[in-house]
Amino acid sequence: MELTLEKYLVWMKEFAQKISEQKDYLSDLDSKIGDGDHGNNMARGLTAVNEGLKAKQPADLTTALKVTAMALISKVGGAAGPLYGTAFLEMTKLSPKTTNLGQLLKAATAGLKKRGGAQMGDKTMVDVWLPITAAVKDKQLSAEKIKQAVESTKPMEAKKGRASYLGERSIGHLDPGAVSSGYLFEALLQAGVIK
Ligand code: ADP
Ligand code: MG
Repeated sequence: MELTLEKYLVWMKEFAQKISEQKDYLSDLDSKIGDGDHGNNMARGLTAVNEGLKAKQPADLTTALKVTAMALISKVGGAAGPLYGTAFLEMTKLSPKTTNLGQLLKAATAGLKKRGGAQMGDKTMVDVWLPITAAVKDKQLSAEKIKQAVESTKPMEAKKGRASYLGERSIGHLDPGAVSSGYLFEALLQAGVIK
């Protein structure tokens, strides 16, 4: 599975579309265990990503990933902005050498974990990025796998980020960053990057 520039641009369009459709839902989820801004944060960021890509007309994947990372870091804000941004920035370090999607996602996830210090089971977006990266590498990605990873955060107690202030009261709610990450990978399926 090679990530071409063309497919990447479709992927980001699909992702932005989903985020815009689910903006209120994401903020509702965040209001249960956070401060209620995740939908707005992500919608603002993804609009900036697609505007940036349109304005810059990147000639290669690395440039497109860089434009994405910068827009996410500067526009999403909150905890999620730098974390998503780091994930895309890590991919730019590898993309001049390989466009293999599994390898790119592996680097992204490692960067995300390092930046936020979250492990599997801490009720964060890492609980989606890790298993989904493994599924992509094994050529096993499916909508069902994504759903499972997202749902897995519901019974968890948050150990990182704002939701961790709630301790046990975070149990029983989906993690908003896990849900938005689920949309990222659903968009990947829809963009036809994976066949
Ligand atoms: P904030 O918490 O600053 O309001 P957002 O609401 O935009 O930021 O994003 C919250 C999401 O960020 C959480 O649902 C979680 O998935 C993710 N998150 C927060 N802290 C961490 C972390 N240390 N590592 C990984 N993901 C994190
Ligand atoms: Mg928030």
